[in-house]
Amino acid sequence: MPVLVMKFGGTSVATLDRIKRAAKRVSREVANGNDVIVVVSAMSGETNKLVGYVNETSPMFDAREYDAIVSSGENVTAGLMALTLQEMDIPARSWQGWQVPLKTSSAHGAARIDDIPTTNINDKFGEGMKVAVVAGFQGLSNEGRITTLGRGGSDTTAVAFAAAFDAIRCDIYTDVDGVYTTDPRITDKARKLEKVSFEEMLELASLGAKVLQTRSVELAMRFKVKLRVLSSFEEYDPNAGTLICAEEDIVENNAVSGVAASRDEAKMTLVSVADRPGIAAAIFGPLAEGGVNVDMIIQNISEEGRTDMTFSCPVDQVARAEAALAAAKERGDVNFEALVSDKNVAKISLVGIGMRSQSGVAAKMFKTLSDEGINIKVIATSEIKVSVLVDRKYTELAVQALHDAFELEKA
Ligand code: ASP
Ligand code: MG
Repeated sequence: MPVLVMKFGGTSVATLDRIKRAAKRVSREVANGNDVIVVVSAMSGETNKLVGYVNETSPMFDAREYDAIVSSGENVTAGLMALTLQEMDIPARSWQGWQVPLKTSSAHGAARIDDIPTTNINDKFGEGMKVAVVAGFQGLSNEGRITTLGRGGSDTTAVAFAAAFDAIRCDIYTDVDGVYTTDPRITDKARKLEKVSFEEMLELASLGAKVLQTRSVELAMRFKVKLRVLSSFEEYDPNAGTLICAEEDIVENNAVSGVAASRDEAKMTLVSVADRPGIAAAIFGPLAEGGVNVDMIIQNISEEGRTDMTFSCPVDQVARAEAALAAAKERGDVNFEALVSDKNVAKISLVGIGMRSQSGVAAKMFKTLSDEGINIKVIATSEIKVSVLVDRKYTELAVQALHDAFELEKA
């Protein structure tokens, strides 16, 4: 029988009533002739509460116990979902990570999935079970300890199950009804995309369209899992949501699919560093070791053997970056006159696989921003993306102007 994976996020299982509504959707898919694997998150707010308990009990906590504790929210919803389905006369049972077993690395709090053996669950499907309700976010290490996959990890659980069971699709039920051309809070012209490619979704996800855990999209791309994001709060419609799929499955493409904004950016400039072989390594090595996620990098033209080096990173990592660079200077590994931090920038990005074949996107973007009097501080491009840093106060204006200029409200 075809297997369908359905994942319900925290808001979709936040109350017993919502679990019932989710279970009704599951029952419809069972009636359609599918064996269903349901992956559930903890009730919304539950994981945060558990993380809080851990921190309050032990600031320098044992990560193995952290995982034992924070994974428990999913156990509750998995059991409740199975019970709710049983009440509807649907043969269902819950599966915790260790019972599958979903085997992971031992990196507690951020474990990677190694293997999902299908035998245990398939045996039960063979015996008449119609729904396997799996607790998301959790697994089992080689040492026999409970692990978790990182915050938002049940998306990754769902995609991994879809890959392992060769599912026809992986439906991710959440509190938004799909992926939009931009944040609908910034412009009411934002349009829901019917389809978006894995690569575009990866760019959009890492740029702040926080619909899915980025890892889940990477996994879906690698195993060609058809992913659909849809709302659990809307009436049933077989074409609801946004399909995230391979580029080949998308026939026509606008040059630009979406415009993303990330407000939490900072721009840092090392003024007057020696322009010599190895200087970039001397700067970015310590930053990497210091846990700074450097994004854009530009090296300015050099004069008399000295140059300015500018990079961007998340604004909450500025202090870390400053410390790492001060230490490198102290050690004599790198010499600079000053380190200037600008914490008031936002990154605005245009994303679209259509850029591969259509030119002029960057030029039109720059012209649009200049017409609005918005100064561009840093530019970076890739095959399917153009990003700029601008003053944060222009975030909304920039997004609205670009959304209009590229006519993203039109399909
Ligand atoms: N409950 C976990 C979290 O809040 C995992 C998830 O919901 O995806 O991060
Ligand atoms: Mg989530």
